[in-house]
Amino acid sequence: MKLRFGARSDIGRVRKGNEDSFTAAEPLFAVADGMGGHQGGEVASSLALETIGKGAGTLEGLVREANAAINQQAAGDPGLAGMGTTLTVMRAEGEVLRMAHVGDSRAYMLRGGHLQRLTKDHTVVERLVEEGKLTPQEAEIHPQRNILTRALGVDELLQVDQAAIEPHAGDRLLLCSDGLHGMIDEERIRGILFENADPQAAADALVAAANEAGGQDNITAVVIDVLEVDGQTIPDTAAAAGTPQASGTDVERPRLAATPPPVRRRGRRALVWLAIALIVIGGGLWAAKAMWVDNQFYVGEANGNVALYRGIPAAPLGFELSTPLQEFTDLPAAEVTRFPEYQDLGDGITASSEEDARAIVEQMRAALLGPAPEPGAP
Ligand code: CA
Repeated sequence: MKLRFGARSDIGRVRKGNEDSFTAAEPLFAVADGMGGHQGGEVASSLALETIGKGAGTLEGLVREANAAINQQAAGDPGLAGMGTTLTVMRAEGEVLRMAHVGDSRAYMLRGGHLQRLTKDHTVVERLVEEGKLTPQEAEIHPQRNILTRALGVDELLQVDQAAIEPHAGDRLLLCSDGLHGMIDEERIRGILFENADPQAAADALVAAANEAGGQDNITAVVIDVLEVDGQTIPDTAAAAGTPQASGTDVERPRLAATPPPVRRRGRRALVWLAIALIVIGGGLWAAKAMWVDNQFYVGEANGNVALYRGIPAAPLGFELSTPLQEFTDLPAAEVTRFPEYQDLGDGITASSEEDARAIVEQMRAALLGPAPEPGAP
């Protein structure tokens, strides 16, 4: 298999650091989107790619090694506790592209001008879409669309989606973080991939478009063109643009018929995974919630008083994202909300950590005790 590729990662327009990492070093291509306070996200995503880059063995085995490496490093450093990362990786093995995937980064294939998504997001909202509780359009803009049900660094037991792609000469593949697919829609992605023949130019244009759309997250795109498979090539320009081939070129068209999906999940393993998935859906959601939601805190209201919560204030349709009340305080909510800075108490005032939440409560107390719109000290 002969490949040509380009890649770009950008901090975006809002974030203070870039927690995305990527690899574009034939035969390995990957995108990892890290999460976690302080430096955790950057450490998790780069550690994942470093582990995969150094190791030998099956792709699935390498993903598990990366997961273990992140867990181990997080366990040894309280500052990194709770870090995690998505990982979407492809490796050229002979005439096949092996893929492994965890999280909400994505892989796409442009073939014959059509864009096909090859991965499933492991997110709460994607699950709600599958259950028919959200439309895909609602999911795209849902405030909780970033909450993962799976990530590296969450648990020792990791479910890894796997696929073997049999590419054709002329196919173009894209690996990207949610800072790309969350900012521009798939039609736009398709258009940019179609119009930019050079893979580096395509990656650059994708990142630029996501920034123009707001750049609210880190943005990473890895673009891989398949120039030759099994000795079959196509003209360069068409290869790069993924344009449909006229008959009579030197392309021997698909060994697969046109209709079967290009991604062939491993049959038996897929069934096993399905069975495991059905068994652990509840537990998996719970684990994800424990990791990603229970690390969030906010100050809200309960029974007329200020209260400290673990979780996040809003719940997507029926999925409860706040664990029961942590603590009541003795501060009357009605008094606190007289201060303009606390008037959103009823919706929940989010905090970056438990200490931060406690500090907010203490600021409220100080405000109540100080010269106030009303001296409502308890
Ligand atoms: Ca991201």
